Amino acid sequence: MKVLKDSFGRKFPYLRLSVTEVCNFRCTYCLPNGYQKTDRDFLTLPEITRLATAFAELGTHKIRLTGGEPTVRPDLIEIAHAVSNIPGIRTVALTTNGYNLKENARAFRDAGINALNVSVDSLNSERFHAITGQDKLTHVLEGIEAAKAAGFINIKINSVLLKEVTDHTLPEFLSWIKREALSVRFIELMQTGENLAFFKQHHISAGVIIQQLLEHGFVPELRKPDSGPAQEFTHPDYAGKIGIIAPYSKDFCKSCNRLRVTSRGKLMLCLFGEGGYDLRPYLQADDQREELIDVIAHALHFKHETHYLQQGITGSTPHLATLGG
Ligand code: SAM
Ligand code: SF4
Repeated sequence: MKVLKDSFGRKFPYLRLSVTEVCNFRCTYCLPNGYQKTDRDFLTLPEITRLATAFAELGTHKIRLTGGEPTVRPDLIEIAHAVSNIPGIRTVALTTNGYNLKENARAFRDAGINALNVSVDSLNSERFHAITGQDKLTHVLEGIEAAKAAGFINIKINSVLLKEVTDHTLPEFLSWIKREALSVRFIELMQTGENLAFFKQHHISAGVIIQQLLEHGFVPELRKPDSGPAQEFTHPDYAGKIGIIAPYSKDFCKSCNRLRVTSRGKLMLCLFGEGGYDLRPYLQADDQREELIDVIAHALHFKHETHYLQQGITGSTPHLATLGG
């Protein structure tokens, strides 16, 4: 059996699959003017099924459905159901802005989604509205409650760290996780093709949060080889955890265990890579599987050791809605 491995010995059990670029939020750092394109020729259910089957044969056991906002796709349930039934796929994760989680949490769970990330940039309604363009904090929080009731455990909360906007909000999140067993992840703002001015104004190192956590008595958890990019911090008096995702830190890429495929079928070897490898021509029929597997395995030889973000090279990604963050 072929196993996905790059020239630096890294393995890739984890695929992040964007199922749409469309989003109904207008996050200031991502799609400040909302999603604009009219060409919406995204991967179809059969294409997604063939893609996920090929990755599973290459040793992938976790697939994250992301976007854009994946839950705007009317056939998301069918996608989740198909992907979760592929032999070898153990985890089907969903990253969502949570706008329809309250209504659909149980259906998502029943369709085989067994890991959930919800983006909550602020626990203050006005600030949430200002960041996302949607006055939906309460609804999103109710969605998280519904997800817990539907049986989701270890729910992760993504929160982008923005200078002068969210960098002083740790106490709000701490009082939340005091009683709730959630894992809040602060993500350093990343520069993309379209957000340079915003990035310059609002990027702040996650070091400020780490300092505050240490002052509150949180301790870093030991990292396991398969831990992924978040450094987690725990405290005996808190039910939840805080994680830090700092892509600008040294050694961030050493633990890279993930590949990405865009909603138009391009394999991206790095969030900040160029171009991508068009897999769509190999997704048109079931009997193309061997060829598809060869193309994916071959592309891995071209994965670089690290990104070049420190040098301001962001690759070809205009914003993370194109490939799911
Ligand atoms: N729409 C869904 C959501 O917001 O959860 C899924 C897609 S979104 C692109 C995935 C994650 O990327 C979100 O948590 C979002 O906050 C984060 N993100 C988007 N743009 C980012 C940026 N420039 N820097 C850091 N994180 C970003
Ligand atoms: Fe939409 Fe997610 Fe981007 Fe916000 S971060 S605009 S919710 S894709």
